[in-house]
Amino acid sequence: MNQTVQIRFPKNIHLAIKREDLLHPYISGNKFRKLKYNVQEAQRQGKTMMLTFGGAYSNHIAATAAAGKEYGLKTLGVIRGEELTGKVNDNPTLSFARDCGMEFEFVTREAYRQKTEETFIETLRQKFGDFYLVPEGGTNDFAVKGCEEILTLDDTEFDYIACAVGTGGTISGIANSAEDHQKVLGFPALKADLSADIAKFAIKDNWQLITDYHFGGYAKTDESLIAFINDFYAKTNIPLDPVYTGKTVFGVIDMIENGYFPEGSRILVIHTGGLQGIAGMNKQLHKKGLLTIKT
Ligand SMILES: *Cc1c(COP(=O)(O)O)cnc(C)c1O
Repeated sequence: MNQTVQIRFPKNIHLAIKREDLLHPYISGNKFRKLKYNVQEAQRQGKTMMLTFGGAYSNHIAATAAAGKEYGLKTLGVIRGEELTGKVNDNPTLSFARDCGMEFEFVTREAYRQKTEETFIETLRQKFGDFYLVPEGGTNDFAVKGCEEILTLDDTEFDYIACAVGTGGTISGIANSAEDHQKVLGFPALKADLSADIAKFAIKDNWQLITDYHFGGYAKTDESLIAFINDFYAKTNIPLDPVYTGKTVFGVIDMIENGYFPEGSRILVIHTGGLQGIAGMNKQLHKKGLLTIKT
């Protein structure tokens, strides 16, 4: 089901894309990996609801809602931004999640910042009853365990494994299961220094963050990125999302062109999914009169 696509560059450099985005129609890419053992743990604990946190266009919110529908768990999304109350119909991500059965609690940015605090979580329990808590972005030990299943025996031929980084769960799982000869390159989609978060979960010292391709920060884009995504799609028929995978593939190809990789390198980029976010991004780009992503 998940195919790998190869692209050749000069100096005998091979770039392959592992299509984790095709794992499941709605529980996309790394979010499928991250939710797999969390759903099993929720069921083992006898919970009937999963609660999690996310922003208005969050891939994790969409995936959690879809997983809840598929596995018979109720889902509650604590969403950053009180102003979104009553605006679900205008937002493709939240509409999708609602149609999967997710219920929402919209909170102020200030309240959202308390998402890991026990008192805030206790308030949520009093309001909504018992739930299985999945952290923002889905990263915990169960998520990392799921992401350790991304690389398989077919992937041992690669010298470099590249992936997008948000909270760091995905790269941690990949680094844990990489072979000793493989180097793991993470492309943060935001400006924050994520090394300490990754070090909590990654057991080996085989990974490195490439911090030059965040394009100004989380969910920030520019015309060169959007044009790159459209061009890449036209040439390869592989869609990329503007928040994560577009920045990663842009970065890897830029590094190939700038001579970062030695002759004969075999590079595997993990397509972590996130394509559901394109609709929301396009709405915003269109409103500003900017170039949009072709689908
Ligand atoms: C969430 C997400 C990531 C980041 O994963 P982390 O485990 O949070 O680092 C990368 N790519 C896509 C498409 C995502 O949706």
